[in-house]
Amino acid sequence: MSESQTDMQDLYRELILDHSRNPRHFGRLSDATHTADGINPLCGDKLKLYLRVDDRGRIESSSFEGSGCAISVASASLMTVTVTGIGIDQAESYFEEVTQRLTSDRTEVSSDSSYDKLQALDGVRAYPARVKCATLAWHALHSALENKTTPATTE
Ligand code: ZN
Repeated sequence: MSESQTDMQDLYRELILDHSRNPRHFGRLSDATHTADGINPLCGDKLKLYLRVDDRGRIESSSFEGSGCAISVASASLMTVTVTGIGIDQAESYFEEVTQRLTSDRTEVSSDSSYDKLQALDGVRAYPARVKCATLAWHALHSALENKTTPATTE
């Protein structure tokens, strides 16, 4: 493994640790237009996602609350940071991108530079048991945007 790859992995590990210790957008959003619950029974991760979507389909704000392992919290934190301020179509394409990257052997780097930070989650692929922790928040996002009433579950 090259020096630079090791550096990137350290960087990503730092990013995950930082987001798990200091989750961004943590808490309840009182004027949410979309909400969803996410459950990962395998690990015991639970979260509730709040989104406020404006009438032009842009995610004005987002937040989450709940409890879970470091990876699930970091992923939810990264997810809310990523989707705040973008359109729901783009948010859905991130959902596709993240779930595909984590559940397949795809290694090519996305041409979308705004995806850079989410590559921190790629490290999780080395730990198949934790993939569901990392995708939980994204399944909740997908479910909130589809306005499903049943909780998103990784099972
Ligand atoms: Zn977990």
